[in-house]
Amino acid sequence: MLDHTPKECIERKSLVINPAKTCQPLGATYAALGIHRCLPHSHGSQGCQMYFRSHLNRHFREPVEAATSSFTEGAAVFGGGSNLKAALKNIFAIYEPDIVAISTTCLSETIGEDIPTYILQAQVPEGKYVIHANTPSYQGSHITGFSNMTKGMVKYLSAAGGKSNGKINVLPGFVNPGDMREIKRILRSMKADYIMFPDTSGVLDAPLTGEYHIFPEGGTKIKDIIDSGNSLGTLALGHFASTDSAQELKKKCKVPYQALTTPIGITATDDFLMAIAEFSGQPVSAELEEERGQVIDIMADLHQHYYGKEVALFGDPDMLTGLTQFLLELGMKPKYILTGTPGDLFEKEVNQMLSQAGTQAKVKSAGDLFTLHQWIKQDPVDLIIGNTYGKYIARAEDIPLVRFGFPIMDRGVHSYMPVVGYKGAMRLIEMISNTLLDRVDRDTADEDMELIM
Ligand code: SF4
Repeated sequence: MLDHTPKECIERKSLVINPAKTCQPLGATYAALGIHRCLPHSHGSQGCQMYFRSHLNRHFREPVEAATSSFTEGAAVFGGGSNLKAALKNIFAIYEPDIVAISTTCLSETIGEDIPTYILQAQVPEGKYVIHANTPSYQGSHITGFSNMTKGMVKYLSAAGGKSNGKINVLPGFVNPGDMREIKRILRSMKADYIMFPDTSGVLDAPLTGEYHIFPEGGTKIKDIIDSGNSLGTLALGHFASTDSAQELKKKCKVPYQALTTPIGITATDDFLMAIAEFSGQPVSAELEEERGQVIDIMADLHQHYYGKEVALFGDPDMLTGLTQFLLELGMKPKYILTGTPGDLFEKEVNQMLSQAGTQAKVKSAGDLFTLHQWIKQDPVDLIIGNTYGKYIARAEDIPLVRFGFPIMDRGVHSYMPVVGYKGAMRLIEMISNTLLDRVDRDTADEDMELIM
């Protein structure tokens, strides 16, 4: 299928082949779904919104409700103001959301749409909210869009009332609902009072009850996002998805923040727990200490299966930074680390981690899967870790693949299961070890087949 990928790399400046990212408004739509009773709205043509919805549907296997300004040629030439104002009127009358979160598309950005003015001119019912984020898709990636929409929540909603609420804000970044549930479980375990936004748990992993509700039970309540301006501090998980919003909250409401690596693996989870302890004054719970000990025990039991294995990993920058650190903790060798999201900070952070561990790798931001395939062709690896799109390289080069990140469209359950925290570390070790052992079983001769590994 990818038989014609050449080994030799030729410098490419204006051509991306098999991107390792998707577009900004998709990330903004995902963030918007993390507000309770929010209807995401795409200010552009219908095709864009269909793409965001179908991509999110396929990853989460859940319905994704979202609206569009339905641009046609007229809106492209004369502007989409009337479309948006009509859309807001209809949305509030028919679907009755508490809030509409508007993101822009390539087209509406190119013609320079003035969304704040349109919102001021629109008929927004009393007690309802409309927020927006500019999400030009020819810049950044879905992670940038997620970050911009989260920042939009702060800009439009967060407010300082002058009295501390004694809570910690947690910005989880672009992670699965299963990860968001795990982050909340950790906070509850440490008895820390918190506000987490956005929060897609209970929205994109809601139970099947036989009754359909356009707005499921989950999502951060608007009043909590408003109250985030009164918190003790903010923990921003993932520099690409969360730091801008934490900075905005500091600027607007003087809430201090700590920017942390997404808590994947031992060190990043330790850092997360210590930061919670610092802001909340609560000690690390015995439950979490026990889980940490279990991960170490599992590492001692299974290290012979993964130690020293060379890995190619690709995906979103915040997830890759956490994963790289964890693979180094496991004694594995990240050899190629590539994200499609642009930004020098990624290469800097990852190279720093590698150098602290006394090793090196090929690290690239704004890369594509064609480049990753070429690297693997030049010098293969034992394992690939990345999203569904990695299966074509895995098949072409006969290398096992562990599915991790977004999107995963050819497997189920992943969005319910965390990769963050100590529980997530256990799951990652299980996936990595079992994948490598399956390969050993497949390649072992009959006479060497072992029952116990
Ligand atoms: S890249 Fe632009 S045109 Fe394509 S789906 Fe995204 S916003 Fe729409």
